[in-house]
Amino acid sequence: MNASLPDPAKITIPAELLPADGRFGCGPSKVRHEQVDAVVAARDTVLGTSHRKPAVKGLVGDVRSKLAALFGLAEGWEMVLGDGGSTVFWDVATFGLIKERSQHLAFGEFSSKFAEAASTAPHLSAPTVISSEAGSHPEAIVERGIDTYALTHNETSTGVAMQLQRPAAPDSDAIVVVDATSGAGGLHWDPSEVDVYYFAPQKCFASDGGLWFAACSPAGIERIESIGESNRWRPASLDLKIALDNSRKNQTYNTPAVTTLLLLDSQLDWMLDNGGLDFAAGRSESSAQILYGWAESRDWAAPFVTDPSKRSNVVGTIDLDDSIDAAAVSAVLRANGILDTEAYRKLGRNQLRIGMFPAIDPADIEALTACIDYVVT
Ligand SMILES: *Cc1c(COP(=O)(O)O)cnc(C)c1O
Repeated sequence: MNASLPDPAKITIPAELLPADGRFGCGPSKVRHEQVDAVVAARDTVLGTSHRKPAVKGLVGDVRSKLAALFGLAEGWEMVLGDGGSTVFWDVATFGLIKERSQHLAFGEFSSKFAEAASTAPHLSAPTVISSEAGSHPEAIVERGIDTYALTHNETSTGVAMQLQRPAAPDSDAIVVVDATSGAGGLHWDPSEVDVYYFAPQKCFASDGGLWFAACSPAGIERIESIGESNRWRPASLDLKIALDNSRKNQTYNTPAVTTLLLLDSQLDWMLDNGGLDFAAGRSESSAQILYGWAESRDWAAPFVTDPSKRSNVVGTIDLDDSIDAAAVSAVLRANGILDTEAYRKLGRNQLRIGMFPAIDPADIEALTACIDYVVT
């Protein structure tokens, strides 16, 4: 396909090639119909009822304990939640997690934004920011005086995933804080390597936006408590100690997104009933094998992330040959009901970006590759 590309609306992909579900976005991402049914089932008992009464508090408690079960969290870990999503959590962290100085691995849009938030916070010292080219990730380097190491499980803008590992011999009270927004629920991790693992539920958990969740180790809780006792000014809506105190009562400081909680609860049931994180991460891994294997077998396509060990199982980025306009391919797919395969805007590459979250059926990834073949060749 090239400059002579016909009107996208005029290319009809044969129905037998189409995926059963055409949603391949990287967030918000495919919501399973059963999750929507669960919302409907709660329409008279949970929706439109007080978040200070047992129905919604019970839902918050269920979500907290199911997340702890999914991640296999040990005694002493706590699930904390609040309003605003992961972007708001960066501000929460600058007020309530970073004591004085943080180190950030910046390897894409999202990891850079947290680094930026810490850099501009007037009450913190300038952080160390270790960057790498898009399509790879740097490693943390132990430094004296760093109290918070900020890692990103999956950089959604580039399709790079990293193994979570505590840096060797950091300062004794240093904590490891991980943006797991697009990785949580679709990638394995070892809690012993992490202190705060935070995310929003509109990616692997197939829910909607508006909330943040943070799995906190005993050391993470200790940090929250110690800053909570200090006299550092914190806006109440961004105060992690207030969020912790409310979470322990299965509440949020202000009104939560109840529908988001219902969608999340249903997805957690689906994951846990089918085998937990092994099941969920296994589905994403199957999808990734299909997608990357396909791209490597086409001479006009290639995985953007050259090191296979850094390729994400949940967000696939596929470069197309310059002779093929990737944006035009996405436009044709869109006209045929296959949505959100466009590259991340600011990355500026001739690329498709494909969500492979657990809700997305590996058979649909297979069908998607057949549709791309049909459009391109
Ligand atoms: C989507 C995403 C965010 C932003 O999440 P919001 O809930 O929209 O604020 C942050 N970090 C990563 C890695 C993401 O994928």
